[in-house]
Amino acid sequence: MAAPWQDVVRDAAAVREAAALAVDAALLAGVLMRTGEQPNASDVVNYAPFTLLPSAVPRALFEQAYAVQQDFNLLVDAISQNKEFLEQTLASTIKVDDFTARLFRIYMQVLEEGLVQTVFLGINRSDYMFDCGLDGTAALRQIEINTIAASFGGLTSRTADVHRLVLKVLGKTEEASHLLPNNPAKGLALGIAKAWELYGSQRAVVMFLVEEIQRNIFDQRCVENELWNRNIRVIRRRFRDVFEQGSLDGSRRLYMDGQEVAVVYYREGYVPQTYNQQNWEARLLLERSRAVKCPDIATQLAGTKKVQQELSRPGTLEKLLPGRPEAIARLRATFAGLYSLDEGEEGDRIAATAIADPDRFVLKPQREGGGNNLYGEELKQVLEKIKDSPERTSYILMDKIKPQPALNYLLRAHSPLHVSECISELGIFGVYVRQGQELVLNQAAGHLLRTKAIEHADGGVAAGVAVLDTPYLV
Ligand code: ADP
Ligand code: MG
Repeated sequence: MAAPWQDVVRDAAAVREAAALAVDAALLAGVLMRTGEQPNASDVVNYAPFTLLPSAVPRALFEQAYAVQQDFNLLVDAISQNKEFLEQTLASTIKVDDFTARLFRIYMQVLEEGLVQTVFLGINRSDYMFDCGLDGTAALRQIEINTIAASFGGLTSRTADVHRLVLKVLGKTEEASHLLPNNPAKGLALGIAKAWELYGSQRAVVMFLVEEIQRNIFDQRCVENELWNRNIRVIRRRFRDVFEQGSLDGSRRLYMDGQEVAVVYYREGYVPQTYNQQNWEARLLLERSRAVKCPDIATQLAGTKKVQQELSRPGTLEKLLPGRPEAIARLRATFAGLYSLDEGEEGDRIAATAIADPDRFVLKPQREGGGNNLYGEELKQVLEKIKDSPERTSYILMDKIKPQPALNYLLRAHSPLHVSECISELGIFGVYVRQGQELVLNQAAGHLLRTKAIEHADGGVAAGVAVLDTPYLV
């Protein structure tokens, strides 16, 4: 499934010229990030890293990923409403993983008090790799689903224009015309706007809950601006602002410095380092409120690696989505092998298998944001150390996906231009809105292709490993 420009990849002069032009095009198009030196100022910005060339993606797998997105939306929404499932699934994890345990405590506390939130908004991104079989055919395999702060829906809507220009410069005008339009930010904003409308207060605002360090602000601005275009007011606040200025009224409406908040869109809150005691209190305040949280805490828990692993157990999908055999078949077709490390014989057996053959697996803790998984020799060492301790249950094991590499250039500020063997990860954005029991919106909202050099086992764009890309369907 090579792209039709593997010939130009070796033409050094053409590549240099195209790369210079590509960087300027990216800056003009707004493929931007703040710099590491000045992460909270927009005075000096640079381009977000991206590939020189679009990467080949098998058309059938691309279409398969789009076709299953509404099913994943339904599934996540169903899990988030299934207390028994979340309780059972996370029981072993929360005994050993403090972060998941804290989230879970808030979840239980909010349920015990009684939910006042009636409108629910999910924005997720299901990520896949193309597993290359022994016979050379590729299969779509889900890596994970991100139910909180799934990013790059804004910047990615601008990379296709850059790649279109690059292809033209390289004499590939016909191919350039085949790059697909893509605007996840618009779809995300549509969902937020729908939730805002159903909340039903014209004066209320949408609050983006943002990080202390905001290097990726332009990606978020794409979504914000779509909301302003719809005359919906947006404010940006951090957890500490919520702690200092947030309050609830008697019917648990959320107020920030006097403004009522209809929707809280989290772009933060998925790593333990975010939370000091005050920020945990702020999170609890938000969760107790009537405001639409994207995601609510139950939906965040639905996105844990432990839940993903339990979904692959025979019979689980049937319990979560009764009467939907077709959706279940589509979902299951994307699953890679996933294994529980809970205490007992099943966990003992798979731990021993992984220690004997570590290159077949990835060891994953309950963390998000890249750089947490273990591979190869490190996987083996860690598993050997924890295999007889309860700590083992804070991890899951997953089959390692092995895509076919292709040559490309990763354009990164201050980095030399050199060719790399690369693999790609396709993400599909999903958006849904539920009012009470009625699903009023459920759709796929666009895609994101990220590409990295094969020497990096782990990590996304924000982690500095992968770069933005555009799929070229083959
Ligand atoms: P995170 O929540 O940190 O993003 P992921 O499960 O997405 O965790 O893993 C991070 C990265 O590790 C992925 O983007 C991918 O590059 C790599 N990775 C994860 N799972 C696998 C797997 N099963 N096979 C191969 N690579 C994987
Ligand atoms: Mg990921």
